[in-house]
Amino acid sequence: MATAELVYPLAFPKSIAHKCEICGKTASRMCAKCRVTFYCSEEHQIADNVGIHDKICPTLATLRSKQPFLPSEEERRDRDHEIREKKLHLIEVTRMIGERHVFQNRYDAAIPAALASLKLAMDVYGPRSVELIPSYLILSEASLGLKQLNQCWEYLSQAQYTVLQQQNQAPPAITSQVARNMAQLSIARKDYDEAARHLANDIYDASLYYGTEHYKVAGGYFLLGKVFKLMNRLEVTESLYTQVTQMWYYHLRRLLQSRVVFSDMDAILGKNDDEDEEDETTKSSKLDLATEAEAHNTLQTLLAYRLENHHGNPMIQELNKIYHCFTILYFLARDYIQVHDSMNKIKDCNVKEIDDDQQRILKFLDQLNRMKSLMKRQQQEN
Ligand SMILES: [Zn+2]
Ligand SMILES: [Zn+2]
Repeated sequence: MATAELVYPLAFPKSIAHKCEICGKTASRMCAKCRVTFYCSEEHQIADNVGIHDKICPTLATLRSKQPFLPSEEERRDRDHEIREKKLHLIEVTRMIGERHVFQNRYDAAIPAALASLKLAMDVYGPRSVELIPSYLILSEASLGLKQLNQCWEYLSQAQYTVLQQQNQAPPAITSQVARNMAQLSIARKDYDEAARHLANDIYDASLYYGTEHYKVAGGYFLLGKVFKLMNRLEVTESLYTQVTQMWYYHLRRLLQSRVVFSDMDAILGKNDDEDEEDETTKSSKLDLATEAEAHNTLQTLLAYRLENHHGNPMIQELNKIYHCFTILYFLARDYIQVHDSMNKIKDCNVKEIDDDQQRILKFLDQLNRMKSLMKRQQQEN
């Protein structure tokens, strides 16, 4: 059970009556550790703890408690700067945790984390800044996961309203994401025409920002393919899915090339990836959790589609590309058993790129094995 202390609202003057961290109602209990976070019920306190509070309780204690008066203006400025930096860091952390909950389908836990990030962002940037939108997006995804469509709509409307208020100053990376989430809500509401309209905006904005062939644009095409499939227009789905496979294929191949060239020896020697020592090249060859989850989800759907809809004539070329994407994905995740598995599924391949990559991967795995047996022998000799 969460540690709590009861709070009696009447004990506080009205102006500082404490509000529940989760629902905003008048609070009746307080986190006994930080003593600056309040709840209406045990249920909401537990939800907050599971989602985020446990991890940020000590930092909130420093950020929210009353600061002592500093006589010098310089000292005050330094302190304000330090507090702002702490808040910015906490916004990043809470969003990362919220996103991770979403990817792991822990939508209940994602909401408190996203709410915490939203509150901090409002505090730092003010209530109408585009900087709040990433929090609204996580909240909308979690609500959609919980099938709370009206709630999802509320959060996305907030995001859209914020974009409108910026009079087209919002970055296309953000507006494309808002449009994509809107499309997902429309799909859940079975309004496919509306979904297609949102996706057209998503693809336009994302192409503008990332370039037309970038994998970040692929998510829009992928959803559009799904929409046409739901409308039973498989010929459109077919061509969109082919495009999506191609985009991921290029992206993963690029990652593979930079990974094998720049960090294979580190992996062979079992060196840990030290965040501080990373240069840009190693960083760019890494898959972040979000991208890895998106790649998996997309490729699984594409594979299932190709296996189901081949009309007696499976498209070997397409299947090969998908299995090759999986091979690289597992390789980047260092899951070498799955690498072999998916590589064995590539059949009669005469796509030159796949041959090259396979050779590269096999050579790496061979080096890895030799290095391992060498180390084992050395250990036995010592
Ligand atoms: Zn509450
Ligand atoms: Zn606390």
